Amino acid sequence: MEEKELKSMRKVFNNLKDKISPLANSPEIKELQERVIEIRKNAINNNQELIEIAQKSFKDNDIDCFLAKDDKEAQKLILNIIEEEIKENSYDENNIKIAKSKSNTLREIGIHELLENQNYEVIETDLGDRILQLKEHDNNPTHPTGPASHLTRDDIADIVNNAMGTNLPPEPKAIMETVREDVLSLLAESNIGISGANSIASKDGSLVLIHNEGNISIVASKKLHILLVGIDKLVETLEESISIAKLETVYATGKPVTSYMNIISGPSKTADIEKKLLKNMYGAEKVVVILLDNGRSEAIKECLWCIGCGNCIVSCPVYNIVGNEFGYSSYLGGRGVAMSKFLKGDKTSYDSSIYMCTLCGNCTKNCPVATPTNEIIEDMRYNLQKNNLYIKDHKEIKDNIENKGSPY
Ligand code: SF4
Repeated sequence: MEEKELKSMRKVFNNLKDKISPLANSPEIKELQERVIEIRKNAINNNQELIEIAQKSFKDNDIDCFLAKDDKEAQKLILNIIEEEIKENSYDENNIKIAKSKSNTLREIGIHELLENQNYEVIETDLGDRILQLKEHDNNPTHPTGPASHLTRDDIADIVNNAMGTNLPPEPKAIMETVREDVLSLLAESNIGISGANSIASKDGSLVLIHNEGNISIVASKKLHILLVGIDKLVETLEESISIAKLETVYATGKPVTSYMNIISGPSKTADIEKKLLKNMYGAEKVVVILLDNGRSEAIKECLWCIGCGNCIVSCPVYNIVGNEFGYSSYLGGRGVAMSKFLKGDKTSYDSSIYMCTLCGNCTKNCPVATPTNEIIEDMRYNLQKNNLYIKDHKEIKDNIENKGSPY
């Protein structure tokens, strides 16, 4: 990342910290935090059982559910589902536009490359993600809920003007309105939506999605809605899912609630005409959930407690200096690096700069569910160096201390 981007990101992070702190320290949120810690621990301890419960509940709710053991399997499932939909509805294969909303899990499986290789056009509906999509290069996010936190209004106006041939001034409202109208016109004829979910209530067979822009309601209104969700997002009940969504909102945005919370427990339906059941009134006719493992069932349990708020990177001294170079894909900062080991293996965690971590523990202190990221990273580094994945200079210093009693 460029220095000016880092500066802009730090400014956004500092504002965020000022907003989060008083709210997070209120007695109501402290109490919620304690509850969510228990919910996450129980859910991860009983993950396999929750998968089985969710599969049955989804079936009862008329939601198709598949289990993908890795990214390849998830990709194959998604392509098959879309191809089937195209065939069933005789859509023009050369004009398939897919409405997408922000999802780390979709990025994890390389959704853009996958769909674009089939000549399907993917339209990001979240403003920050759409801006990154329009950016010619370096389009990695810098925060899970504020992906374009590193870009100033001038940068964004330039990106939009270059991509859309407009001549917008660096005014946020004008930029927002222009991007919104463009996205809406592109999606007017789209019949397929794809998203992640913030949480799954296994017993209820419900998916909870939070957003501020209203874009997920658009994605969920397409005829087919595919949701790709990590198995770590499963909890027992809807009440638990909502508690998590509320805590995540506080720690991600510094606001007590999000503008929208969609709860999807089945396709759109009506029986208002002679009690005849009809689907696809306003929302999706078909809802398909893919539960993704991709290394999660082998992961350290503590690493899966995460609720995705991003507060760990806001408080991380390394991330504040180097930005998203410290992390993997959209799994940012120390916890992202730790996750990369389970998603992609040791070498990826090494390449994601695992040795940059200072082990200061700020992330753990500021994590609403107390994920012990610094301890996880320390253990991982111990194992990595046994597999010859270490910084060469560190080895030289260690050898010098052992052999000469001095690092030099
Ligand atoms: S322990 Fe590592 S990941 Fe956590 S805040 Fe410190 S430097 Fe960042």
